[in-house]
Parts: sequence; structure tokens; C-alpha cells
Amino acid sequence: MIEANQDIIILGAGPAGLQAAIHAARKGLKVLVLGKNDKSSLWWAHIENFCCTLEISGEQILKTGQQQAESFGAIFFNEDVLSIVPPDLMSLDGSGFTVNSETKTFKTKAIIICTGTTRNKLGVPGEKELFGKGVSYCVECDGNFFKGEEVAVVGGESAAAGGALHLTHLASKTHLVAKEFSFAPELMQRLKDAGVIIHEGVDVKEITGESGVDGLVLDNGNTLGVTGVFIELGAKGVMSLAAELGITLDDSMKFIKTDKQQRTNVPGLFAAGDICGPPLQMAKAVGEGCVAGLTAAKFAKKL
Ligand SMILES: Cc1cc2nc3c(=O)[nH]c(=O)nc-3n(C[C@H](O)[C@H](O)[C@H](O)COP(=O)(O)OP(=O)(O)OC[C@H]3O[C@@H](n4cnc5c(N)ncnc54)[C@H](O)[C@@H]3O)c2cc1C
Repeated sequence: MIEANQDIIILGAGPAGLQAAIHAARKGLKVLVLGKNDKSSLWWAHIENFCCTLEISGEQILKTGQQQAESFGAIFFNEDVLSIVPPDLMSLDGSGFTVNSETKTFKTKAIIICTGTTRNKLGVPGEKELFGKGVSYCVECDGNFFKGEEVAVVGGESAAAGGALHLTHLASKTHLVAKEFSFAPELMQRLKDAGVIIHEGVDVKEITGESGVDGLVLDNGNTLGVTGVFIELGAKGVMSLAAELGITLDDSMKFIKTDKQQRTNVPGLFAAGDICGPPLQMAKAVGEGCVAGLTAAKFAKKL
């Protein structure tokens, strides 16, 4: 079911997303923020170098920022985005992007990506050696290479869940492995209904293989006979977004490339904050969030 149409959807409830929400909502537009503020890299930080604030915790800043954005009419929904479908250029109905969160589907004219950076390495033996030979960090990019094979996705958050769902259409068998899962229970049910084999409460000990992956060793003593291992820690990363939406990355291939108005190469898609590259600092995230909010508002108002 499609929830009410939005003017702007902001991915991320960190400082970039909050500032974008404040500026866009003050323009009188329907603004929805998706994401979890306790997953912002600011949550556990103690800030000493942000102008005009002394001795303030990241958690305090994030909670106040949300209240402030809500006071201007922005709505917050505590779920990650699993996939985004770009507008169908042929239909010309102006319906915009389709955004699928853990349990809901939204339509929106414009999107601001403020998802920060995520740690994506597992740090187990075999990971580095077998990268590109069965180990991947992007289901959207590499899933097709594993058609009809048995694969595992490692991770307990939304990126892993979304990746596992995607792989059920390609792989013969899909495993999902994590110490604990932190996405919506409805999404867990969807995974089970789609046939994903869930391994909860276990860590990965090793990825084995010589010229290619042939196994995933778990700390409960089991070994999964997989040929593909997708490491999807945290929420959807920059490579997945780029593969899904055709967003151009910068030269390092780690960050989204934008112009000074925070526009990406895809019309209607804007980005701000750590996902646009260093310095990975709140002051830069907030500045870019402000610009992105205003530019996206101008874009959405024209449609
Ligand atoms: C320990 C630590 C200390 C720090 N100290 C300082 C400091 O003193 N001063 C300073 O300026 N900076 C500091 N930083 C850096 C600062 O936290 C970041 O630069 C800032 O938080 C970046 O903001 P952001 O909005 O771009 O991303 P983040 O704050 O990381 O927020 C990302 C948001 O995106 C959401 N998200 C991710 N994927 C999805 C998805 N698929 N769908 C929806 N939402 C999604 C997350 O849930 C989160 O809400 C520190 C960082 C750390 C880790």
C-alpha cells in the first residue's frame, strides 16, 4: 500500500538530515524523514567543536533537532529505506520516486540522501583474500553473478535484510547471518516467507576457499556451503544506492558527488553530510543539509 505522497523524503536523521528537514519544512512542503537517530554517528559523540555549543552530547543535539524539525511540520518515521525506484520517465504522471522502507511504501517528488558513512568490513580471515572472488559488499552490484547458487548475507540491520530479499530472486538458497537483528519484525516475517534461512545469535569466524568462496564458518560450529558472501553491515551503503539509482560517485568511489547546490547527477536526488565525503564533521553536515533542503524545496515546488 502506498502511504500519502510526499514532496520531499529525507533519508537519515543525523545532523545533515535534520537540518535539511528544518529548511525544507519551513518552505511549507510535506517533508518525511526516514531513518533512526540513534544510528547517527553523532549519537555517542560528545561535541566540543560545533559553533555556539559547549559541552553538549550528540544524543541531546539529535533529539532537539528532531523536535525542532517536527515543530515546522516535518514527520519522522523510524525505519530505514530498503529500496528506491526512480520515476518512470515514460509515464509522465509526475508521481516521482517510489521509496520502500522496512514496512511501508511512499511516493515523493524529491529525495535528500543523508545516510552518513557505515563501517562495512567484517574483519575475519578470508574476507580480504576472497574479495571479488565470492565476497562482495554490494548485493545490487554483484547479486547477478550468483544466479542459482547458495549465498549468505552477513549483517543484522536493514541493508542485510534488503539484500537477502533481493537475493531470493536470484540465488538457489539465501542465508542471513547475524548476532542480532534490529529491523522491523514485519520485515523478519517477509524474509521468512521469502524462504531466507535465518541464523540468529551467531558470528562469522571465517570465509573459506582458494580461488573462490566455498564456505562460511560460523562460531556455533556450523559451516554454510555457500559460494557467495555479501557483507552488508549497517544500513544501505553508497555503492548500493549508486547501483540502484545511477548516482555518480566521486573519484574515491566512496562518496556521492554533488554540485554546490547539493544536487547529484540524477534530477530530484540531492545529498548532504558525511555521505558526500570529508571532512566528516557535524558542521559540514549541517551546512550541506541546509543547502540541500532549500534546493530540494525549490525543485519540488516546480513540479
Ligand atoms: C565517536 C564520534 C565522535 C565524533 N565527534 C565529532 C565531533 O566532536 N565534532 C564533529 O563535528 N563531528 C564529530 N563526529 C562526526 C559526526 O558525527 C558526523 O560528521 C555527522 O554525524 C555526520 O552527519 P550525517 O547526518 O551526514 O550522518 P549521520 O549522523 O551518521 O546520520 C546518518 C543517518 O542516516 C540514517 N540512515 C542510514 N542508512 C539509511 C537508510 N537506508 N534509510 C534511512 N536512513 C538511513 C541513519 O539511521 C542515521 O540516522 C564524530 C563521530 C563519531 C563516530
